[in-house]
Amino acid sequence: MSAGNAVVIGSGIGGLSAAIRLQGLGFRTQVLERSPVPGGRAMVRKVDGFTFDMGPTVLTVPHFIEELFAVQPGDAGLDRPDFPPEVLGDDVRVREGVSGGPATSEYVTIRPILPFYRIYFDDGTYFDYDGDPEHTREQIRAIEPADLDGYERFHAAAKAIFERGFLELGYTHFGDVPSMIKVVPDLLRLDAVRNLFRFTSRYFRSDKLRQVFSFETLLVGGNPLRVPAIYAMIHFVEKTWGIHYAMGGTGALVDGMVRKLQDLGGSITYGATVQSIRCERGPSGRPRATGVVLEDGTTLDADLVVSNADYAHTHMHLVDRKWRRWNPDWRVKAMRQSMSLVVIYFGFRKTDTPLDLQHHNIILGPRYEALLTEIFDRKVLGKDFSQYLHIPTLTDPSLAPEGHHAAYTLVPVPHNGSGLDWSAIGDAFVDKILHFLDERGYIPGLMDRLVHKSFITPDHFEQTLLSHLGNAFGPEPSLTQSAWFRPHNRSQDVDRLYLVGAGAQPGAGTPSVMMSAKMTARLVAEDFLSSETTSQVETSKDSPQPHTRATLGF
Ligand SMILES: Cc1cc2nc3c(=O)[nH]c(=O)nc-3n(C[C@H](O)[C@H](O)[C@H](O)COP(=O)(O)OP(=O)(O)OC[C@H]3O[C@@H](n4cnc5c(N)ncnc54)[C@H](O)[C@@H]3O)c2cc1C
Repeated sequence: MSAGNAVVIGSGIGGLSAAIRLQGLGFRTQVLERSPVPGGRAMVRKVDGFTFDMGPTVLTVPHFIEELFAVQPGDAGLDRPDFPPEVLGDDVRVREGVSGGPATSEYVTIRPILPFYRIYFDDGTYFDYDGDPEHTREQIRAIEPADLDGYERFHAAAKAIFERGFLELGYTHFGDVPSMIKVVPDLLRLDAVRNLFRFTSRYFRSDKLRQVFSFETLLVGGNPLRVPAIYAMIHFVEKTWGIHYAMGGTGALVDGMVRKLQDLGGSITYGATVQSIRCERGPSGRPRATGVVLEDGTTLDADLVVSNADYAHTHMHLVDRKWRRWNPDWRVKAMRQSMSLVVIYFGFRKTDTPLDLQHHNIILGPRYEALLTEIFDRKVLGKDFSQYLHIPTLTDPSLAPEGHHAAYTLVPVPHNGSGLDWSAIGDAFVDKILHFLDERGYIPGLMDRLVHKSFITPDHFEQTLLSHLGNAFGPEPSLTQSAWFRPHNRSQDVDRLYLVGAGAQPGAGTPSVMMSAKMTARLVAEDFLSSETTSQVETSKDSPQPHTRATLGF
């Protein structure tokens, strides 16, 4: 018997993960996606024989993926431990070969990538990070021997943060103030509230090493100068479970998730832009969601609505302001949005000389702190830049025609609060980046070998993905926008409305949005399926007013 109808707005990785879980819980689940393809930020561009993943490329925590593919009708996997004993242990290292579990391999093949990243400094030297402590020590010794001791202390501090912040608290939904207050003493004890760059600087004297051990938060939209040191856990997440690649690209993972949803009986509709979330006043007087209205006027009824759309878009455009007591426009606009990106997708001919690059390359510019301040605070385009250069054809030649490489390079830039006119400056900016890769010898002769070039700017995030100010990662992760301060996965304003994805808790990044989906599904299960929730009046954790929680009644 169905538990009811669920609508999920958006087919990002978080939206698809939530839909899979809800379908597993017994809801008839329909995903509504405005684009003609799934994936949101993880959508794929196929052109001139090349396949480009447009967004995420670094997959971490493969057992989160395995959990999703293991969902079965009537078993959404919500009661199983989040970190089962078999995935824990001391320094569980990347295994050779296929890294997904048995359920994953029915849908997609995942394999580990080594090194995790090659990090180039502006003087041409580099650091290969692969999570192997001995190899890491060797490279630290070569850069600054005096920092070896600091590395040991950094490692111990980051490990303690990872254990408390990720393994123990990672799945906590901070729905009320006490839940947050409870963890404050631990965060202070672990020094996890200091900004990450200052935290790293306590352990390393070398500027290069300070950068190596703090840049990772940029991959989830966090400014290392502002993000709390709790994010040092990313370093440990990578070290513990490795970095992985879906053969065929991240798009193959997204396609696998769509198939999984359909195999469970759920559906996805493309080209369906939701214009509003319908609400009415429930018996308790609180507003509750009853369905959605599409741009073409179609009305769909639902027992619950999950929005995977941008947080600000959901509130300022989809939920009428009369229902929004906790999220009025001024509060939504007051949230700091993460930075944006220019991403250049390009294909080029191979030569007889193999590329001297890795699958994942971080190419740091001459300035670090000043550049971050320009991007995040001053919102100007600096004269120099840092970038992440992704060459998946080094692992998976199927993404390019014979004799070619497919690549993308991603450059952090200010979001559209900057007032920059990308239609006017985009082409010149992109040429500057590609010439840099050629002239600095990263890809020698690139301009002569180039056979395809296309790019996205902050306008893609604003106009195609409907993200406020063209943010690339949702609200910026900072101390005052994390945990309880980050948008809640159960709407504080409207019953039966939930949020999932980068704009909700715990935040951006593929593992986080999968966690977000599990947290949201747990809240739905608590609200709709727990025997205690039927026909009772209780005080919501999120709401200051007593109200009637949704009853089963389907
Ligand atoms: C270029 C880039 C590289 C990245 N690299 C990495 C990486 O290597 N590793 C990593 O872990 N993370 C990475 N990230 C972050 C990660 O990709 C995102 O945090 C994550 O994919 C966001 O997923 P989401 O579930 O929040 O949904 P999104 O991907 O934001 O999808 C939301 C969906 O909602 C749809 N939508 C919006 N409004 C409506 C509406 N009104 N009606 C219908 N549909 C609507 C949109 O079309 C979209 O499909 C990267 C991000 C970018 C942009």
